[in-house]
Amino acid sequence: MKKVTSADSLITINHYKNLLTSEGISAFLKNEHFGSIMGEVPFQEVWPELWVAHDLDYDRALQLIDSAKIADESPAASWRCKTCGEQIEGQFSVCWKCGA
Ligand SMILES: [Zn+2]
Repeated sequence: MKKVTSADSLITINHYKNLLTSEGISAFLKNEHFGSIMGEVPFQEVWPELWVAHDLDYDRALQLIDSAKIADESPAASWRCKTCGEQIEGQFSVCWKCGA
């Protein structure tokens, strides 16, 4: 058994677990009931953890999680305004300069 990653929310860690399970990797959670012991240990110590049952799956699991993290965090590609030519960050849908 090997620990793959931890996350600060059960939603995130379950998302990763489902990802691994759907790829045929046997994965399970530790500390998933971390809320009940909060206050006694530092918060980070009790983050829910994702483990793989078989060490052989570890590298592949890590890759899957990494690509999921990148997909979650990277903003949409930036674009260029057709009206004024300004480069706009991907999270904006209108041009901040001319409003197009
Ligand atoms: Zn513009």
